[in-house]
Amino acid sequence: MWTGNRPVNGRVVAGWAVALTAAGLLTCVWFAYTGGTGRHVSAAAGKRPGATKAAMPHKGTLPARVSAEITHAAESGGKAVNITIDDGPDPVWTPKILQVLQDNGAHATFCMIGPHATANPAVVEKIVADGDRLCDHTVSHNTRMDHSPEAYQKSQILDAARMIQQASGGVAPMYYRAPGGAFTPYSRHVAAIHGMRPLGWNIDSRDFYRPGVSTIVNTVKYELGNGPTMLFHDGGGNRSQTFEALRQLLPWLKSQGYTFSFPVR
Ligand SMILES: [Zn+2]
Repeated sequence: MWTGNRPVNGRVVAGWAVALTAAGLLTCVWFAYTGGTGRHVSAAAGKRPGATKAAMPHKGTLPARVSAEITHAAESGGKAVNITIDDGPDPVWTPKILQVLQDNGAHATFCMIGPHATANPAVVEKIVADGDRLCDHTVSHNTRMDHSPEAYQKSQILDAARMIQQASGGVAPMYYRAPGGAFTPYSRHVAAIHGMRPLGWNIDSRDFYRPGVSTIVNTVKYELGNGPTMLFHDGGGNRSQTFEALRQLLPWLKSQGYTFSFPVR
């Protein structure tokens, strides 16, 4: 189990959630939850889903910079959700989750730990081929990296970005999500000038704790009013509950009129 993970968003929605919330992380995680603009933009004409293949960066060149504000909104606007899936890629669970997404015509943003991408390049390539997007989730998944020196924060972000881009065959991550939401103004800036939009979340499925499929499903339904960006996990242990919860949730979301989008970048 990936014990370093603290996939909580700090928003107390029910008594039982308090027990799951790591009090020491409230400050940084709350920031991830509330820091976005909440801005919705209309879909751009001709917008292509998924990542686009980019050349490997040459020395001295950077991809186009993006905003350093934490994003939550759906790119498509309207009644949409952004599925985001963290801590992989995993050779067992990520392909299963990709299949569920495909079965439902859904897309997701995968926030990857750099060495996991390096270890599973075929999975990363499949994610890209499916039209899903890549997100940098650092090298070491240190949920207290916001207390670390800037040089450490920078290498955690940029080394993981290189690993992910290498594993994907040249597609760069489009977003950066700090482990446990441990963003700093500096880390957001570093990500942004390297073309990665800081990515928060609105709905924490709490799937990481394996509370049971129905609990995951009900948590997502209960929190649906919070905003469009949902947090799930494909790494950090047995993700059979996540797989089954998505298998139930995706058709339900469609039946409720939701479409599947990506976070505003
Ligand atoms: Zn994580």
